[in-house]
Amino acid sequence: MRLMPRASLVRWMLGGALATALSGCAGHAHVTRNEEAPVARAVVASSLDEQIAVAAPPGTRSLGACDPASDVSRFVVAHLNDMQARYGEIVGGRSRYAYVAGYLRALKDENPSTLVLDAGDDYEKGSVAELRSMGESTRRMIQALPIDARTIGNHDFAYGAEAVQRDVTWSAHPVLAANVHRDGAADTSPFVPFVRIDVGCVRVGITGLVTTNYGSNDLPSREPFDGVYQQDDRYAQVLADVVRDHRAEVDVMISLDHLGFWQDVELAGRVPGVDLFVGGHSEDLVTVPYGIQRRDGSRAWVVQAGHYARTLGRADFAWSHHDHALTLERYAIVNVDETLPVAEDVEALAREVERDAAPDARNPIATLDAALPAGKMADLVWRAVEARWGADAMLLGRDVFWDGLPRGPLTLERLYDSVFVQREPAGTSGFSSLVVVSLSGADLAALRARLIPGPLFAFYAPDTLDPARTYRLVIEKRALENPAMAMYGAPFPLRGRWGGELIDVLEVYARARTARGLSLD
Ligand SMILES: [Zn+2]
Repeated sequence: MRLMPRASLVRWMLGGALATALSGCAGHAHVTRNEEAPVARAVVASSLDEQIAVAAPPGTRSLGACDPASDVSRFVVAHLNDMQARYGEIVGGRSRYAYVAGYLRALKDENPSTLVLDAGDDYEKGSVAELRSMGESTRRMIQALPIDARTIGNHDFAYGAEAVQRDVTWSAHPVLAANVHRDGAADTSPFVPFVRIDVGCVRVGITGLVTTNYGSNDLPSREPFDGVYQQDDRYAQVLADVVRDHRAEVDVMISLDHLGFWQDVELAGRVPGVDLFVGGHSEDLVTVPYGIQRRDGSRAWVVQAGHYARTLGRADFAWSHHDHALTLERYAIVNVDETLPVAEDVEALAREVERDAAPDARNPIATLDAALPAGKMADLVWRAVEARWGADAMLLGRDVFWDGLPRGPLTLERLYDSVFVQREPAGTSGFSSLVVVSLSGADLAALRARLIPGPLFAFYAPDTLDPARTYRLVIEKRALENPAMAMYGAPFPLRGRWGGELIDVLEVYARARTARGLSLD
């Protein structure tokens, strides 16, 4: 006879009572006390007599101390997601990560039964030091945080298969991905599908699910990450398999997902046996845990804590050993700011990784006489590619800029904030990187004739083109590889040489302008 997992069994029995306590709560906090009916308590008590203690399997980690005399065990889940290498962001003179580490360490000191979970996308966009070190500076910063388990995010594949392998195999904490496997060699996959961590007296199981790769068109893609990491998008099936294999050995099951908030909500409704979904990817700041009541009476919460290490989530749980019920007693979003404790060693490390990879990231490299709005950034790139490559023409999306530039001195890091890189597909250059193409005036005229009118792309070229002359076109990688995004039918395949990321071209241009005593704008 196949034994029903303990917690599922209890939930099934308690279903009626819980349904009464929690009905109509979707979208609101389920910060409820146990309200089981006396009859349910009696049924549970009789079922507990049949339980057999399960020894912790090898490799199980433990946090905090277990007091076996206590009926109720309290523990904390602190969670982060989509930090995206924002250690370069300075708050009150210190890196954001110094406060993240300071807060989490203080929390663990105060309550050793604290589990710190990271739902992925630690890499990309946030720091020019990361780009210059091909991810290594971010790998070091992640390891400085007191993380107990992490799920890999789509951006965390940015720097290629070897960087992923290094990140995961050198990690002090397990890196989860139940739905990602290395091509052709399942046993060499660096990810673990499941980990058990005993938090005080509570046996917590954690699995992780990862969203798809993205293509050079910045849209979801079925291509494997870095050419080798195959992703399975049958999330409910994969999660149900983990529940089937491991539910019986844990009290609480957590899915640490990098799928997006609404995907988690859907999964929470479809897959019983998971108590908590700690999410990322959609970068939602969910101030009140989203409660799910399943048809079978069991329930789950979905949480996600914003992005960029600006906020983190803290959930205080109570686990009742007698009735096997999990209660979310409190939930709070914590703002990462100067009021939090500081980890000075993490602050020092943030300086060190920047010094190693981008030593002058904080020094002004240019000055602007007037602020440059985001809508004028393509014009700036055009001037830069004219100066750098003697470009005759340029095709570039207006949507690849995150911001304009402020008036006054401009640092490399601030310039990067406006043009940061998304390496898509993972393991290749950014989709907004630039390619230099040589083509005839006739071909350039044909290309211009086919451009889709509209605000998405900026196109620069001489008014009159000599059909016989050779021109130099600078084109973003996205439009080069996906011409249908920019033009009606590709007139001919474009081929060229890769020129660099936007930041590379703009940095050279900014320094050259400064050397000549000129403003950047
Ligand atoms: Zn993501």
